Amino acid sequence: MAVLITGGAGYIGSHTVVEFIRAGETVVVLDNLYQGHPEAVQGVHLIEADLRDQSKVVKILREFDIESVIHFAANSLVGESVQDPLKYYDNNVGGTRALLSAMTECGVGRIVFSSSAATYGEPVQVPIPETHPQVPTNPYGETKLVIERMLRWCHVAYNLASVSLRYFNAAGAHPDGHIGEDHDPETHLVPIVLSVALGQRPHLPVFGDDYATQDGTCIRDYVHVMDLASAHHLALGRLREKSVCEAYNLGSGSGYSVLEIVEAARRVTGHPIPVVVSGRRAGDPAVLIASSEKARTELSWRPRHESIESMIASAWEWHSKHPLGYGRA
Ligand code: UDP
Repeated sequence: MAVLITGGAGYIGSHTVVEFIRAGETVVVLDNLYQGHPEAVQGVHLIEADLRDQSKVVKILREFDIESVIHFAANSLVGESVQDPLKYYDNNVGGTRALLSAMTECGVGRIVFSSSAATYGEPVQVPIPETHPQVPTNPYGETKLVIERMLRWCHVAYNLASVSLRYFNAAGAHPDGHIGEDHDPETHLVPIVLSVALGQRPHLPVFGDDYATQDGTCIRDYVHVMDLASAHHLALGRLREKSVCEAYNLGSGSGYSVLEIVEAARRVTGHPIPVVVSGRRAGDPAVLIASSEKARTELSWRPRHESIESMIASAWEWHSKHPLGYGRA
């Protein structure tokens, strides 16, 4: 029996693969490698396939005797999703629909799904609990919400057990420095700040300093990628105990502004990291902070890397050793 990790060659997926192997699981990775990196899953069984190829997924589930699925494979760029929403409906919703059909056909009854804080949209309450209204403000968040709802109906109809994990801002890298974040194009704050520290960009564009926050820049809840990884294993443990359909927020519960992240990165790297304030980025809420009480209580999730310095230090270890990312170090 094995666990299938879709999108396992991506950023959060590859860290989760390492965590599952550490926990003694047998893992098979399925990735179409459009964005994933084979170098991120060296020594792991990697199958290059697209979820929308349902008959191939059925074959894989049977051949590797898959008992559960951890599902990351998706497009995840908010801006691109606004430009090309059908790409997101096709790959994220269509890919998951095909995966779920294959799972029901083969009697695979458990899935941990990579959802997002983007399903909430503009918060009306902070910290955000799981019961907060889900009103996404972009197609990326909308596709994640559609999938959560699809999972709810699949639980009712086919007894397919699922946990949706709503991530806040993933950051950091594996402590041994062999895997980390490498997106093309990169849009996330921490890797962009560190590329400025490396001299690859002249400055960080700060997207707005006129928000209603203490320094005027947006506040986000950063959570270490290895803590996200461990939550997936705990979630699967819950599904193995009981056929539930649940959603959990994953965040640290602490918020940091863009300028606080830059300050922390200056301390960690010793580099000056110039910033230039530019206009707001469309669709950015001022403050996003998770309440992760439910994950702490029901999954016994205990994040181990809560300080922002330790997240940035582990990311710095990766970026400074692999300034051009995978395969280009
Ligand atoms: N941000 C910024 N400059 C950048 C990239 C991001 O000021 O070059 C800000 C962005 O507006 C947001 C925060 O950093 O307030 C985190 O953005 P990121 O894209 O990393 O994650 P998101 O919150 O969009 O999921």
